[in-house]
Amino acid sequence: MKKIKSEKKLCLICIEEHEVDTVEIVDHEIFKGEEVSYTSTYEYCSNADELLETEEMVKTNSLTMKDAYRKKVGLLTSTEIINIREKYGVSQKDFSEILDWGRATITRYENHQVQDRAHDNVLSKIDSDPKWFLEMLKRAKGRISDKAFSKYHHEASEQFKKKRNQYLIDSIQAIYADYENEAVAGRAELNLNKVVEMINYLALKVDSLHKVKLMKMLWYSDILHFKRSGIAISGLAYSTLPKGAVPEGYDQIVLLNGVSFDTVWYGDNITYKFKPTPGFEIKELGHSEMEVLDEIISKFGNYNTDEIVEMMHEEAYKCTESYRIIPFSFAEQLIID
Ligand SMILES: [Zn+2]
Repeated sequence: MKKIKSEKKLCLICIEEHEVDTVEIVDHEIFKGEEVSYTSTYEYCSNADELLETEEMVKTNSLTMKDAYRKKVGLLTSTEIINIREKYGVSQKDFSEILDWGRATITRYENHQVQDRAHDNVLSKIDSDPKWFLEMLKRAKGRISDKAFSKYHHEASEQFKKKRNQYLIDSIQAIYADYENEAVAGRAELNLNKVVEMINYLALKVDSLHKVKLMKMLWYSDILHFKRSGIAISGLAYSTLPKGAVPEGYDQIVLLNGVSFDTVWYGDNITYKFKPTPGFEIKELGHSEMEVLDEIISKFGNYNTDEIVEMMHEEAYKCTESYRIIPFSFAEQLIID
């Protein structure tokens, strides 16, 4: 028996006013054929050496017991169910409607009733798969208010983007796992927040920022900063592609949250034109890093793609075999500086 608090009040066991303790006790119970242990809360009267369960405690203790059962048999707890619903900002009633379950089903699951296994699987899938929730939501259109529908749709889309972004980050980090502790990334640790800030800042300051130009400007910024202070900015590693330096993981980087672009047709080819993301802020780039970016912008900002490609007569580029990582040790031979 563990004392939680003590309060002077009318004791409902001995009907006298005295210090009544609130205590925790480990209880055991058989529920649906399973023995469960859980911590219950009671009031304790030291005069009578007896325990009392207030109405509120009866409810909480029962919920705690059922959550202990849910945990034991691998079902979502009531709190986990509430969190899943709140993640999408959905009301209990609408959640039941979207799932096409009985009106009060979710309310019951969040309180006293243990969900069945099939419903539990659906809730777990919704938790991990926002895209699937979006599909269920579309099916419920017309059964919930338009206003609620668009609110939930927005929230689920945000969850989906977040999920996709995490997947992108993981895949970029998987690529960079090979480069850890090597000089190929200019001694800097990969910082994708900085990468996103660099892209936005360049997109803000440079007109018509296409892929080739952006990639070059990122490389120049990193290698120039490395030359000045012995460390690159982003931690990106660049390799030599036919049109110049391109960061490893480029395909994933341009899809990260916070990177915005329009797709533009060039004859038969499609290309990206980068633009600043509304509301973006510089939070992680430091003073010396911004200075280098500004310098690169003033040097190359007005170049068109062909002029930029022409600029790749840097030793770093000429001396690195195609499709190989460009060493930062070429910084000393930079022509632009
Ligand atoms: Zn008492």
